Amino acid sequence: MSSRGGQDDRHMEFLLTLRRRGIGDQAVLRAMDEIPRERFVELEFTDNAYDDRALPICCGQTISQPYVVAYMSEQLQLRPHHRVLEIGTGSGYQAAVLSRLAREVVSVERYRTLAEHARERLRAVGCSNVEVVVGDGMLGAPGRAPFDRIIVTAAAETVPQALLDQLADDGIMLLPLGPHDGPQHIVRIVKSAAGVTRDNLIAVRFVPLSPGQAQEL
Ligand code: SAH
Repeated sequence: MSSRGGQDDRHMEFLLTLRRRGIGDQAVLRAMDEIPRERFVELEFTDNAYDDRALPICCGQTISQPYVVAYMSEQLQLRPHHRVLEIGTGSGYQAAVLSRLAREVVSVERYRTLAEHARERLRAVGCSNVEVVVGDGMLGAPGRAPFDRIIVTAAAETVPQALLDQLADDGIMLLPLGPHDGPQHIVRIVKSAAGVTRDNLIAVRFVPLSPGQAQEL
């Protein structure tokens, strides 16, 4: 590992930043430590892989900011037996982190190119419990429902009803909600026998959740 030189220092600083910003869940910190973000960014951004910021990936999309990945992973309160649905595979990084914390991850991406790259990366880093599906995530993955946890990693203007329907009892769903070029918040939705509760967590900035499977590659 010492041959990575400066990358090791940056990786150490990366973990310290997450702790300093309030991530305290040891399993989440371990997953963030173990998943090599440099394998999920574009080659030209390798040197920036451990900066705490979102970076461009192909198809005009972004790999999320590490703090937000850790924060959402922590807020999902994952247990090892959970089945998780992610909407917006993108680079596959968030799915890789989730794969360390749950039994199974189904991740839906509307761009075939992104889905294929993500599959290759996930295979290369040994995340064998993630299935990447090409399709419209607004419809969820009805054939695989219900899910104990649902995480949406693109900003929705309203809560997609199909996702609510596919959330198991006692399930938690997190999604960035808000206008595409305005203020967005992570919203937490908890489903229980008593009904559905909803509260606002941190302010964020995500690329839009767009309807339909992408026609371009
Ligand atoms: N979780 C990703 C972040 C991806 S950015 C990561 O860790 O890298 C958001 C992604 O959501 C983009 O790849 C975008 O193409 C995808 N997306 C947007 N609308 C979608 C939809 N309706 N269904 C599936 N994916 C969607």
